[in-house]
Amino acid sequence: MTSAPDLETRTATSVALAKVVKEFGSTRVLHELDLQIEAGEFVSLLGPSGCGKTTALRLIAGLEQLTSGQILMNGQDVTGVPTNKRDIGMVFQAYSLFPHLTVLQNTTFGLEMRKTPAAEAKRLAGESLELVGLADLAGRYPHELSGGQQQRVALARALVTSPKVLLLDEPLSALDAQVRVQLRMEIRRIQQELGITTIFVTHDQEEALAVSDRIAVMSGGRIEQIGAPEELYLTPATPFVASFVGMSSLVPAVVAAGEATLWGMRVPVIGEVADGSYEAFVRPEHVRLAAVGEPSVAVTVETSTFLGSIRRTMLRTADGPLLTMQHSADQHLERGDTAQVTILPVPVVVRPA
Ligand code: ATP
Repeated sequence: MTSAPDLETRTATSVALAKVVKEFGSTRVLHELDLQIEAGEFVSLLGPSGCGKTTALRLIAGLEQLTSGQILMNGQDVTGVPTNKRDIGMVFQAYSLFPHLTVLQNTTFGLEMRKTPAAEAKRLAGESLELVGLADLAGRYPHELSGGQQQRVALARALVTSPKVLLLDEPLSALDAQVRVQLRMEIRRIQQELGITTIFVTHDQEEALAVSDRIAVMSGGRIEQIGAPEELYLTPATPFVASFVGMSSLVPAVVAAGEATLWGMRVPVIGEVADGSYEAFVRPEHVRLAAVGEPSVAVTVETSTFLGSIRRTMLRTADGPLLTMQHSADQHLERGDTAQVTILPVPVVVRPA
C-alpha cells in the first residue's frame, strides 16, 4: 500500500484548550479544562461514561459553544470559528456513510462541497481510499461492507480534505474485538504516516494505551492526569488513574515516611502522603511466588485463568483481601493450593483506607 502524496504534505497543527468551561443549563460538565496537544501528536481522552470526553471533542470541532475559555489551533483563537472553517476531519462511533452513495462517492462528498473539480476529487478520494486499504472496493455501497470497512471509509472521507486535525469519537466501539484491534493499529499507522494531530475519545483503557502518544485521563469534567501510556500505568498520579488504567488489587498498607508496608513488605509510595493507614494499588505483574527466605504473605489460590502466554491467578490472603498475580502460563496453580507470594518494591499509589 502506498501513501497519498497530497495527503502527506499538510503542516501539523497544535491544539490547545485554555480554561475551557462547558455548562448545559445549570450543570457544569467541563471545569476549566487546560490541554495542550502538540502538532502531530496522538492524544486520547480516556474516561468513564459521562466524564465529558465527547463534549470536549465537540467543542474542539465547533459543534458546541463554550461557556467560557478558548480553543486555539497553532496558537490562533478559533473559539468563534464555525466547524466548516476549522479544517478538521471527524469520525464518529456510528457509521455515518450515505447509504445511497458508493464508497467513492462517499469519499468525494466533502470535496464536492468544497467545489473541487470532479477529476481532482476522484484522484484525491482514490488516494485516500488507498491509504485505508479500500481502493478495491470503491464501487461498493455501504450495505455491502463490513463494519470495519465502513469505518475505514469514514476515515478516508475524513482525511480526503487534508484536514489539520483529526477527531475520532469512539470510532471502534461498534466493532467486534478482533476488528477493533486491527483497525486501531491501522489508525495509528495512518496517523503517523500523515503526521496529523489526532484526538481520540475512548472509554477503553487498553485501546488508549495501545495507540496514544499521550493520554488525558478524565473524571467528572476534569483531567486527572495527562501523560505517556507508560507514565500513567507506572506512576498514576491519583487513585482514580490507578484504578481506571490497568488492573490492580487493593492491599491494606501502613504508610510511614513515604514508604508503605504491605504485610511486612516495603514498597515506595507515589506522591506526598501523610503517615497513616491506606489501601495500596498493586499491579498483578508486581506479585510473584516468593523464594525461600524472601518477605512474603501466605495465600490460597481461588481461581487461575489461562490467558495464552500468561495466567492470572486470584489469591486469598489469610486476613481476607484478594490479590491478583500475573505469572507465566507454565506455572500451574490449582484452586485450593497454598503458597507464599511477595510484592515487588515498585512504587504504588495509595488511597485512604
Ligand atoms: P460517553 O462515553 O457516555 O459518551 P462522555 O465522557 O463522552 O460519555 P459527554 O457525552 O461529554 O460524556 O457528557 C458529559 C456530561 O454532559 C454528561 O453528564 C451528559 O449527560 C451531559 N450532556 C452532554 N450533552 C448534553 C446536552 N446536549 N444537554 C445536556 N447535558 C448534556
